[in-house]
Amino acid sequence: MVRYDPPLRDYHFLLHEVFDVCQEMTTLGFEEFDQEFVDTMIDEWAKFCKEVWLPTNAVGDEEGAKLSKGVVTTPSGFKEAWAAAVEGSWFATVCEPEHGGMGLPLCFRNTMDEFAISTNMALAAIGALCLGVYDLISEYGIGCLRSLYSPKVATGEWCGTMCLTEPHCGTDLGLIYSKATPMGDGSYRIKGTKLFITGGEHDLSDNIIHMVLAKLPDAPEGTKGISLFLVPKYLPADYVSGLPEDCSDQLAAEINGVGCSSIEEKMGLHGQPTCAMNFDDSVGWLVGELNMGMKLMFEMMNRERLATGMMGLGLGEIAYQNALDWCKERRQGRDLKGVNDPTEEADNILVHPDVRRMLLRVKANNEGSRALGIWIGTLLDQMKRGEGEVQEAAEALVAVLTPVAKAHMTDLGMDSTNDCIQVMGGAGYIRESSVEQFYRDVRIAAIWEGTNGIQALDLVGRKIAPNLGRHLRPLLWPILEFIEENRDIEGMAEFTKPLYQGVRGLQQVTLLLMSEGMANAHFLAAGATDYCRYFGNIMLSYLWARMAKVCLEKQGDDMFYDAKLATARIFFERIYPETISLAAKIQAGHHNLMTYPEAMM
Ligand SMILES: Cc1cc2nc3c(=O)[nH]c(=O)nc-3n(C[C@H](O)[C@H](O)[C@H](O)COP(=O)(O)OP(=O)(O)OC[C@H]3O[C@@H](n4cnc5c(N)ncnc54)[C@H](O)[C@@H]3O)c2cc1C
Repeated sequence: MVRYDPPLRDYHFLLHEVFDVCQEMTTLGFEEFDQEFVDTMIDEWAKFCKEVWLPTNAVGDEEGAKLSKGVVTTPSGFKEAWAAAVEGSWFATVCEPEHGGMGLPLCFRNTMDEFAISTNMALAAIGALCLGVYDLISEYGIGCLRSLYSPKVATGEWCGTMCLTEPHCGTDLGLIYSKATPMGDGSYRIKGTKLFITGGEHDLSDNIIHMVLAKLPDAPEGTKGISLFLVPKYLPADYVSGLPEDCSDQLAAEINGVGCSSIEEKMGLHGQPTCAMNFDDSVGWLVGELNMGMKLMFEMMNRERLATGMMGLGLGEIAYQNALDWCKERRQGRDLKGVNDPTEEADNILVHPDVRRMLLRVKANNEGSRALGIWIGTLLDQMKRGEGEVQEAAEALVAVLTPVAKAHMTDLGMDSTNDCIQVMGGAGYIRESSVEQFYRDVRIAAIWEGTNGIQALDLVGRKIAPNLGRHLRPLLWPILEFIEENRDIEGMAEFTKPLYQGVRGLQQVTLLLMSEGMANAHFLAAGATDYCRYFGNIMLSYLWARMAKVCLEKQGDDMFYDAKLATARIFFERIYPETISLAAKIQAGHHNLMTYPEAMM
């Protein structure tokens, strides 16, 4: 039986002791966001995930989603688990009150995401899509589209999808074939096939609202000619043509030529249907302006990328908990320094340095990633609600940190679930352990929402290079300030010293990438993934130093702080030094990669 204890203590620590989010959110105008309220909400959601979603997770993996005669059925218990979250208004927490939401800060959402992902990533990812679709409609929906669709999608009563990928293109969306024909009454007819659509068809909700990328017949070439359309599975009840004047009380009723032709057999995430979707002259409405589809879809994708980063953490965490339990029980060999437990024939495997190397690495990366998730969450709130310099700085930081969080946290999630299998030996590879499911499930997170390689290129090519590294200033200066302010505090040097070297190193590799990359794009691209990892490592180093500072003041009061400090030491000793090899790989450049003849590969 899988174990999951939501890391509530860690969240309370991060939210209140490290980031002081209640104070921060009060400054941003969220007046009712006090500590008691936050803790109650988090505790309740964690309880819900553990009690309602977790029991469905292994069932979902075993049974999988099924397609029969165009109808997709989710595994046993999924419908009820989804309905219970809708009933509890859990999906709408960060949505606007006018759409049935609670208007909570976005930083709260990342916390929610982790518990949901750990307990059922298949459902959690559909929930993240609903929120992304909600954001787009409530921001850019025209007229009554907003009043009809926003509240239903906010609550999860109706689900949402993003339809970008086509059979011949995923990364290069400029190649899409899907067409949108204007009908002259404000509506369009959408025709095309979309592949790999998460939750494209299922039985969780009465309607599914698709966000579809398509091109008008006379649209400009490539991505500049892509527009975004809202295409519902079912049209409003008395839909005749065009955009209804007032559709606030209309229910979904008429079918709209949207069909699922197949669902994929996948490595993991079996409970979630991944659908090939056909749009057969389906009625759709433009979202935003013509030919602005990629820009708007990027807004949604950026939201999804952060949620995807949390997938690395959510599955890394539940894998850790189960691997740890197993290691405590498993007895093999003796401590190299002598018998540890004379009452047994062998010691448990936690006496072995190599087992500890793996487990503690997972723990340090999980806790660092969690801090990164909360930090970015608070920046999103500053971006949305802040003013002037606060808002501008937050926007610059979120732009840089989004690809880093997506790629680094999911890379770590893959490493962590992999290590958790390894520490369990053969048992880790066996289905009964559940850890192998987490490993299979997390794998997709490095691929969808733009592969991690594309995130790295986004970081160097779009976020860093065009600004000649200026985006780094609002990020690195506060870190250098933090080092300056804290380096002389007793006990802090062991954290601030490597952090300082790491920041300087990051500045150097950035300069190198900029100078060489200007002259040769291959140099920039060859170093992108290692640069993104370097970047992620330094962000986690900074957050570990901040956490260590809080714990140094409180150590001895509570084992929690002692454990945190010990984990900070593990991070700086065993994970931070990876920056050295990453820097060497960035410096190696592109030459040998690009001159290697294809015929010899
Ligand atoms: C389970 C699942 C669910 C999905 N859900 C959705 C969904 O809901 N909606 C949706 O629209 N799509 C979805 N996708 C599609 C997913 O987003 C794409 O698979 C992903 O973006 C990669 O595209 P691709 O598979 O076409 O790979 P390709 O674009 O063919 O890329 C193959 C490899 O080449 C690399 N590559 C490609 N171009 C470049 C470049 N310019 N520079 C450097 N490297 C490059 C990539 O990084 C990758 O490693 C899903 C996919 C899966 C498997």
